[in-house]
Amino acid sequence: MVYNYRIVIPYALQKSILYELHEGHLGVVKMKSIARNYVYWPGLDVEIEALCQACEPCRQQQDAPPHAPLTPWPFPARPWQRT
Ligand SMILES: [Zn+2]
Repeated sequence: MVYNYRIVIPYALQKSILYELHEGHLGVVKMKSIARNYVYWPGLDVEIEALCQACEPCRQQQDAPPHAPLTPWPFPARPWQRT
């Protein structure tokens, strides 16, 4: 069976496909993009998310939030000056 050019994986094989997708710890985004090119089953995205949430190497693949630039306090011109 095929869904949008993706092979629909029967329930018995979903776990092994999921583990194959997970090989290499590519992270949620990459795993989903590979899966969307080849395979489908209901709840695939949710299962990929759950697997990667539980996996430390996959979580390290997530984009870190951008670093905020440091903003130093303005230097006081005289003692006890509040700016
Ligand atoms: Zn992983």
